[in-house]
Amino acid sequence: MRVRLSKSFSFEAAHWLPTFPEGHKCRRLHGHSFHVDVVAEGPVSEETGYLMDFGEIKKAIAPIEDALDHRCLNEIDGLENPTAEHLSRWIWDRIAEEIPCLFEIRVQETCTSECVYRGEALSERLCSA
Ligand SMILES: [Zn+2]
Repeated sequence: MRVRLSKSFSFEAAHWLPTFPEGHKCRRLHGHSFHVDVVAEGPVSEETGYLMDFGEIKKAIAPIEDALDHRCLNEIDGLENPTAEHLSRWIWDRIAEEIPCLFEIRVQETCTSECVYRGEALSERLCSA
């Protein structure tokens, strides 16, 4: 039995997107209530009945949340161009080691705009234990 688990968190942050065309609204400093889903996929242990403790995901997310919440994302190392695409990879890179079954990171900037990132080498990462 395989399952996909999702744990979500939210944070408020400002950003501006330096690669957008001059005059584009996204070039101006503005803020979002970002919503992030951290998704893990893998086999359910026959013995325990679960894939992983949601608390482990929460623990991995805590420092990320702290680094991003109420910040200007452009000022954070590695997020000088804080598109949703770069943000999803930035989050992935910081929690992948702690969540071996990490499947995808979903970053929502608004209710209708979402970026999904599944890492660069998903097939090697897929949990098979
Ligand atoms: Zn924006």
